[in-house]
Amino acid sequence: MKKKYMIVGNWKMNKLIEESLGFIKKLAPEITDCDVDVLLAVPFTSIHPTSKAAEKTKIIIGAQNMNDARKGAFTGEIAGIMLEEAGAEFVILGHSERRQIFHETNDFINKKVERALQDDLMPILCIGETKEEKDKNKTEEVLKKQIKECLDKISKEDVENIKIAYEPIWAIGTGETATVVYAEKIHKFIREYLKQLFGKKCADNIYILYGGSVTPENVSILLKQKDIDGVLVGGASLDLESFLEIIKNSVGV
Ligand code: PEP
Repeated sequence: MKKKYMIVGNWKMNKLIEESLGFIKKLAPEITDCDVDVLLAVPFTSIHPTSKAAEKTKIIIGAQNMNDARKGAFTGEIAGIMLEEAGAEFVILGHSERRQIFHETNDFINKKVERALQDDLMPILCIGETKEEKDKNKTEEVLKKQIKECLDKISKEDVENIKIAYEPIWAIGTGETATVVYAEKIHKFIREYLKQLFGKKCADNIYILYGGSVTPENVSILLKQKDIDGVLVGGASLDLESFLEIIKNSVGV
């Protein structure tokens, strides 16, 4: 049986508090009957106000990054317990923009995953290959390394609380979505590899989301694929109409 779909918006470094609140207030009443999980990764400054505004709605608020330490002298960083206190329920970790622009390594991301679990935040772990790696037929090798190293020392029980987001880097913000055949092939590969590492039950239960130029037009065909359990949406989550359409087009797929 297919899982309940998960639709995650990633606002990145966009929207001030007032705009974030306006979005939540308009979105919430439109999705009360939608049988999908709706999550929004908002900027740090919007976590507290939006999580308050999202109480008693279907919307779950989360963050886009955190540090691996619990507290300490890390100027400019933010701890999981701070996000949790502000009202975040999940955190995106290892997004390709963090890996590429801020040079985050699998080892560092692994430490963040461990800390997020300790701090009761559901990690959404992003993995994905570059265009160059894809062209050199290295996709599977790259994904295996990312999965193995980012999930190092994580127990079977904990792995089931993690969501994996497969985001081919060449498809992020480019308008170039992976074909459904390619996306499903890679999702299946990821699930098989998780099975090798953590067993069948865990591999079956774990959510594997697709991210990369998801739109209202392509979301239902993506979700129809056996191993795609939801989507992570960047650009199209910034606009209320398109995000709402993505959610509505996910219902009953
Ligand atoms: C993302 O940044 O996680 C993403 C999937 O972006 P976009 O939907 O804009 O490709």
